[in-house]
Amino acid sequence: MLKFAKRLSGSRTMGSELQDRFRGCMLGGLAGDCLGARFEGAYWGKVVDRDAVARLVSEMTNPEAKSAAGRSKALVVRRYTDDTSMAFTLARSLLENDGYRERYLAKSFANDYKREPGRGYGGSVIVVFMKLFEDSCRDCYKPAHDQFDGSGSYGNGAAMRVAPVALFCDDEQELERVAMEQAMLTHANPDGVCGAVLQATAVHHCLHADRGKPFDVAACLQRLRDAVERFPRQPAGAAAGSRTASTTATASPITCGGSDSLATFLTQHSDYRATVDKYLKKLDTLSVLLANPHTNQQEVMVELGNGIAASEAVFAAIFSALRTLRMLNEPAQPSAEQPADQKPVPEGAAGKEGKPSAGEFSAMTETIVHAISLGGDTDTIACMAGGIVGAYCGAGGISPSWKPVLESYATAVSLADKLCARRHKLHPQP
Ligand SMILES: [Mg+2]
Repeated sequence: MLKFAKRLSGSRTMGSELQDRFRGCMLGGLAGDCLGARFEGAYWGKVVDRDAVARLVSEMTNPEAKSAAGRSKALVVRRYTDDTSMAFTLARSLLENDGYRERYLAKSFANDYKREPGRGYGGSVIVVFMKLFEDSCRDCYKPAHDQFDGSGSYGNGAAMRVAPVALFCDDEQELERVAMEQAMLTHANPDGVCGAVLQATAVHHCLHADRGKPFDVAACLQRLRDAVERFPRQPAGAAAGSRTASTTATASPITCGGSDSLATFLTQHSDYRATVDKYLKKLDTLSVLLANPHTNQQEVMVELGNGIAASEAVFAAIFSALRTLRMLNEPAQPSAEQPADQKPVPEGAAGKEGKPSAGEFSAMTETIVHAISLGGDTDTIACMAGGIVGAYCGAGGISPSWKPVLESYATAVSLADKLCARRHKLHPQP
């Protein structure tokens, strides 16, 4: 196991370790978003030069670095985008209501957009927000359900923000239910919702994985598969057909209701079966790609995709995260024979404790650099990958030099601490 992984099983108490992992999740998502935003939109359908990404991270990690002319570079604060904005909103809503409250969250998303519209929101979700502001809007799910002639959005917007749900929910059933319901406020297509459930499951699994043992990639993949196979999770005893469901573009609108009726809506959606089949097939593909240490970015992009669809970006992110977690299990640093584009970012270029030291390995930096190098929706892919790895590795794996560079670093820490404090209150630990 690499040096970094050994350090994870150190002397922290259970309580502080969990807090560290909550922080790691929120900060990993923030870092991926802020760094990925630099490349967003310039690499659709193609990968990004890994060295260019590593250079950007290196500049951020080593702010004292001088330019070629020998002058100190000004500190550049990296702004976050809609991914982090909506994750913050979701975290606050869960905390303020001690649970998921659909109307409160829907209005909060819309209000936060109105307050800061320049965060890179997608056009279709802005339409949802505008409809939520209308006095005639009585059903907070309806604007999303009506989109695209009633088929709903299959974008990655519900998955990109979902990490706080994994920090908030205890068990699988609650996790999958809240991930689904919050998704349907903006993305009513089964693809968009299943992506959110899959991302939440990946974060939740890594948050609670035993760091005293090597990370079990196969167990994580099996849990993801289980989540897709039972998607959408319906509460025990829920009767199918308990609400009017839309199966065609002209179906009747649905009204606010419980998770049973939302799940029924999804299972009766004309795209439902295709989504489940596609997600299971993609998990198989991801597993094959992951098993080969020589898989390169081009292959990942072609096989899994890197676009705005949840069925592309979520898989690209999970691949990037599990690739890093698999590397933590490797007995030694990858050999010199490893392809140059697959070598981990050296600690000297990335920083771990703010002090470059050659030869070590930074899990968070490696994850973010790889995720961005896949191209496409770089901020969202890196945000989701960073959240997964941060939930396992914790904030201790994030360079302190990133603190002044990432916008609202303190907010991410504060929300993580509040979510963790709530968990301690519910489940006191010695
Ligand atoms: Mg974004």
